[in-house]
Amino acid sequence: MKIAFIGLGNMGGGMAANLVKAGHDVRAFDLSEAALAAAKDAGCATFTSASEACADAEAVVSMLPNGAIVKSVFTADVIGTAPAGAVFLDCSTIDVATAREVIGLATAAGYDMVDAPVSGGIAAANGGTLTFMVGGTKAAFDRAEPILSAMGKAVIHAGDAGNGQAAKICNNMLLAVHMAGTCEAFAMAGKLGLDPQTFYDISSVSSGQNWSMTSYCPVPGVGPQSPSDNDYEGGFATALMLKDLRLAMDAADTSDSAVPMGSRAAALYEDFDGAGNGGKDFSAIIKTYLSQR
Ligand code: NAD
Repeated sequence: MKIAFIGLGNMGGGMAANLVKAGHDVRAFDLSEAALAAAKDAGCATFTSASEACADAEAVVSMLPNGAIVKSVFTADVIGTAPAGAVFLDCSTIDVATAREVIGLATAAGYDMVDAPVSGGIAAANGGTLTFMVGGTKAAFDRAEPILSAMGKAVIHAGDAGNGQAAKICNNMLLAVHMAGTCEAFAMAGKLGLDPQTFYDISSVSSGQNWSMTSYCPVPGVGPQSPSDNDYEGGFATALMLKDLRLAMDAADTSDSAVPMGSRAAALYEDFDGAGNGGKDFSAIIKTYLSQR
């Protein structure tokens, strides 16, 4: 299948390479020369504009930084340029309202389109093990699913347009809440004289058990290998978690949702990012609790 791929950064680079490995004819565009060169090495054909990459495509996949860029790329270069009948898949993490607006514009122009944000980081993008949460009509989902399956281990239809983004930001808001809670519990356990491994052995089989504890423990040397064992390098950067929490707080406002825990987690991550920790894994927020007296 001829697939245009726009946005070949940390995530998109590996995703486009997996489409090549699955036998697709991938037509790549990125503003970055370095990203384009890497895509060429991975077997993509490269183009000097998004509209050239899309001109002959049966599907268009995008993996871009934010909603404003997604909207401008689709309205300027994709909608009306890609052949009639092409299907569009935006895998970026963006706000629900923009996702619905862009899908509305594509649909009005006669295209099928889904929002398909991902769970999983750069390693999952490279390894083809992402989880996609997909919003759009059943017909659009059915067309997108085989393309997404070549880049991921799970593809879940979340409902109508924008519901993929809704699932993504609600999931990540919950992740921030249980990571922050797990960090403060480990810190207080330590101050009360409990060894972290002992607290893990107890809580991981008790009612406090959660993913941040047993799959991504913020304490070095405890639980399975995680970014805490690598001085909080790699993993899911604090700046990206903060991006998702800001999207979640916007969505809470527009949907009139009460999010007292989510807004507290967002404030904690605003502070942690503002203190220069944006590049550190989000589990490094445990350091703020350990330094408190
Ligand atoms: P990135 O900054 O590494 O990549 C974005 C790419 O888009 C860059 O190469 C940039 O040059 C390109 N770009 C920007 N504007 C463009 C335009 N107008 N036309 C063409 N290319 C353009 O970001 P990333 O880490 O790959 O993240 C991409 C998306 O995936 C974001 O929405 C992010 O929130 C989401 N995401 C990232 C992770 C992660 O761990 N990095 C995990 C889940 C979701």
